Amino acid sequence: METSTGAAGRSDSTPVVAADAPDTAGRTAGAGETAGATAAPVVRPAAPPASLSPSRASDFMQCPLLYRFRVIDRLPEKPSEAATRGTLVHAVLERLFDAPAAERTAPRAKELVPGQWDRLRESRPEVMELFAGDPEGERLARWLAEAERLVERWFTLEDPSRLEPAERELFVETELDSGLRLRGIIDRVDVAPTGEVRIVDYKTGKAPRPEYAEGALFQMKFYALVVWRLKRVIPRRLQLVYLGSGDVLTYDPVQADLERVERKLLALWEAIREATETGDWRPRPTKLCGWCDHQARCPEFGGTPPPYPLPVRATGSAAV
Ligand code: SF4
Repeated sequence: METSTGAAGRSDSTPVVAADAPDTAGRTAGAGETAGATAAPVVRPAAPPASLSPSRASDFMQCPLLYRFRVIDRLPEKPSEAATRGTLVHAVLERLFDAPAAERTAPRAKELVPGQWDRLRESRPEVMELFAGDPEGERLARWLAEAERLVERWFTLEDPSRLEPAERELFVETELDSGLRLRGIIDRVDVAPTGEVRIVDYKTGKAPRPEYAEGALFQMKFYALVVWRLKRVIPRRLQLVYLGSGDVLTYDPVQADLERVERKLLALWEAIREATETGDWRPRPTKLCGWCDHQARCPEFGGTPPPYPLPVRATGSAAV
């Protein structure tokens, strides 16, 4: 069984979820199943899915055809203001921990915004498309001010001067006994002197209504499962920090939770494998279609998907 963790290397991350849809972190989980979220004209060959991340698992649950477009066809998507702002805010929060504890103040964090924006523009020039029709820079100024507000709100929810993260932007990957490879990027891992682990994720959107909290926690339980498999320790606490609304959602998982998530992921992976082999990727329209970049190719909106780029199993033959 192969497992690994490492620095996430956010500089090459790309927005994957449109705008202030449920996940606004706007990042991918690493190579191999990166959503085509950049408008850069890089054509990558289609490939069968090799692993699962929380974002891609959510894509499949939301709409199998969306999953296909992102993971198999790897179709490019336009950067979005909200997802790009999420990437910027995450970078600022991460970098603030480079400073000594006493200097981790809101003004210091806000000062980091312009520099991190410059870095983001350099690593992903396509984000400037967002402000192409803004010669005076007014929209950009408002967008940056909103990023500063989100950064500032963090200080009403957590006190970074009292935190010493064990890990930031941690890339994690593990292979389950079934062979399913799970991967993801954890925003922050805190480890108490007693050894208890807390997994923290920042969201630049608003907290979901209570009836949707389970969906939000799915990603965190996914990470908890990976950490459990990697470190043999069940994280004591999962914490979602919603900068958009100023809420913190926590959950203390138990082993049964993580076993349930594992069963769910295995079932999901089976469904993905079946769709990959048959080429049967159904659209599942919801109100989230409003955020989808692929309406023009979607049958639900009168479009036609591109030819399926992978070989399909002959009708009637069983999957191997
Ligand atoms: S528009 Fe909606 S149904 Fe069509 S691919 Fe996108 S998310 Fe799926």
